[in-house]
Amino acid sequence: MTGTGSRGWDARILTLYPAMFPGPLGQSLAGRALNEGVWSLRVVDIRDFARDKHRSVDDTPFGGGPGMVMRPDVLAAAIDATVAAAGEAAAEQPLIYFSPRGRRLDQALVHSVKDAGGATLVCGRFEGVDERLLQARPVTEVSLGDFVLSGGEIAAYALLDAVVRLLPGVMGAEESGTEESFADGLLEYPQYTRPQEWEGRSVPEVLLSGHHERIAAWRRDQAERITAERRPDLWEDYAKRKRGK
Ligand code: SAH
Repeated sequence: MTGTGSRGWDARILTLYPAMFPGPLGQSLAGRALNEGVWSLRVVDIRDFARDKHRSVDDTPFGGGPGMVMRPDVLAAAIDATVAAAGEAAAEQPLIYFSPRGRRLDQALVHSVKDAGGATLVCGRFEGVDERLLQARPVTEVSLGDFVLSGGEIAAYALLDAVVRLLPGVMGAEESGTEESFADGLLEYPQYTRPQEWEGRSVPEVLLSGHHERIAAWRRDQAERITAERRPDLWEDYAKRKRGK
């Protein structure tokens, strides 16, 4: 891990709903890793940076239209204070605003965020944030997919869950990180466990053979078949890389 002052991976989350954290990230693998200090979580309530006595963080959009927009001055104050308090390394780490307009989250982005040693994550609400904030700070917009959530918090869960499981020592078998979907640009092969016979269905013979090379070859064939069938986009990239080799 590089670029972090603490001993773990550092998450900083800016939200209007601080009680949503750690939420699901306090359970299971991520929760255990959080308790062990493999990663840390600092949750910042954006409302603490409001400037008026009503503690307002949003206002009506210029030009009219429905809903409310988050104010750039309040958000910038929250971001600047959070990054400054987190030490020198934090200024070099990604500053992410979750937004349906952003780059789609994928495993390559997860790896690059993980490798940065930490990140500052801004969760939007209402109609989103004033555009000038996105220009005035080095913000990367990240989308969870082509649908609209009511807030960025669920996208933050997704990104953090995906990062934390890659941190050293978090997953039981180290290699489960290198064999799974997307690790080599393919979707994962089918998995089977006990019982060996279930509702008249048996497990593919080859998996019972104990023949490691044949098993590996079968799994690769299956991964290729499933990827070609389900994800022509991934398949094309994979085939191109294979031809290039
Ligand atoms: N008016 C906006 C949607 C705002 S939804 C638009 O049409 O683009 C409110 C907040 O939810 C956003 O500010 C963003 O932080 C979060 N959000 C909504 N959909 C998201 C998605 N697909 N990926 C990541 N964050 C999302």
